[in-house]
Amino acid sequence: MIKNCKICSSKTINIYVNFPFFRHIDFKTINYHLSLRKCINCQIVYNNKKLNKISSLFKSKLYVLSNQTKHKMTNKYNNNLKTRTHFQANIIKNLIMKKSNLSILDVGCFDGQLLLDLNKINNKNFYYGYDINKRLKRIFPNKKNFTYLSNIHKNKNKRFDLIILSHSIMYINKIRDELLLYKKMLNENGILYIQMPNIEKNPFYALMGDQHNFFTSSSLMNFLKFCGYKSKVLKNETFKREIIMIAKKFNYEKKLKFKNNKAYESCLIKIKKTINNLKKINKKKLVVMGTTINGAFVEEILSDKVDHFVDENIIKRNFRGKKVLNPQKLNDNHQILLPYSKSNKGILNKFKSNYKGEFFLI
Ligand SMILES: [Zn+2]
Repeated sequence: MIKNCKICSSKTINIYVNFPFFRHIDFKTINYHLSLRKCINCQIVYNNKKLNKISSLFKSKLYVLSNQTKHKMTNKYNNNLKTRTHFQANIIKNLIMKKSNLSILDVGCFDGQLLLDLNKINNKNFYYGYDINKRLKRIFPNKKNFTYLSNIHKNKNKRFDLIILSHSIMYINKIRDELLLYKKMLNENGILYIQMPNIEKNPFYALMGDQHNFFTSSSLMNFLKFCGYKSKVLKNETFKREIIMIAKKFNYEKKLKFKNNKAYESCLIKIKKTINNLKKINKKKLVVMGTTINGAFVEEILSDKVDHFVDENIIKRNFRGKKVLNPQKLNDNHQILLPYSKSNKGILNKFKSNYKGEFFLI
C-alpha cells in the first residue's frame, strides 16, 4: 500500500473510521468501516482502497438512469422549485458570462443540464461536456455549439475559458494529474469553478464510501496551491451547505506552506454525537425527512424503527427499500425526524407550519 501522499508525496497517517459509508448513486450502505489516509503536509484525506467496482458504476447504465440533475430546490429569492443547475448557472453567469465566444468545459457533465442552463443565458458560447460514461452521449444535448467528450486526454490540446467541476472533484482518483492537465487547458485568465458538499456544514458527507477524496475548504485550497492555482471561496446564499471555490493559474515563487486542518476529524466527532442521540430514541414507526445522505444515515442507524421516508421533491418512490411519500400525506400521529442538525430551527419551523405531525431535529 502506498503510504506517501498522492498529492505532495509527504508522509501520511491512518484515519480509521468506524462508521457506515454510503455510495452516491442511491445512498446504499457499502462499508461499515474504512481506513483513510491523511497527509501530514497538505492535509488532504483520501481513500486509498481500490474503488474499481465503484468506478465501473459511473460507467454503467444504472448511472445513466440515476436522475443526477433532477433534484429541485428553492433559495431565499425564489420560492418556486428549480433545478440545482438553474441556480448554479446564475452564479456562473456573474463570473464570466458577460463575454461571448467562450469555451466552457463541464467535468462530470452527466446529461449536460448545467450547460443547457448556461446556454439559455448565453447561446454564443461553446459548451463541452466531459463524462467517463460513454452512454451519456445519447442523452447529452444535440446542439451545434455542444460537444460531448468521453476522454479528456484525447482532447488535451483544447483550450477553455472556464472549467467547471461540480460535485465531481471527490470522485477523481488521480486528481493531481487531472488538475495539472486542466491548468494546461485553461486560457491565461481562465477560471476553474469547483463546487462540492461542505462537510463542515453537513458532516455526513464525510461518509461517502465511493469518494476518492475528502476535501475541506482548507485542504482544497492547499491542493489547488500545490497544483499552481490561486483560489478563493465564493460566498453564496443558495448553496449554504456546499463549497464553491474559484481558482486561477498562479506561479508561486516561494516554497509552499500549508496550514493544519482538522475539519474531517471534527466531522467524525459530530457524527458520533448524532449516533449517540439516535440510539436514545425509543419510538417506532418513525418517518425520516429527505432521501440523500442524511436520511440514509439515520435509517442505517435506526433501521427497523424507521417506517418510511418523506420528501418534498420525490424522484424515486423507494429509498433504501422503504417507501418515499409526499409530506402532505403526513397526519398528526406521525413522528418525523429532520436530520439537518439540532441548530437548524428555520427548517424545523418551516416543516411545522407546512405539514401535520410531530417534528424532531437531530
Ligand atoms: Zn500531501
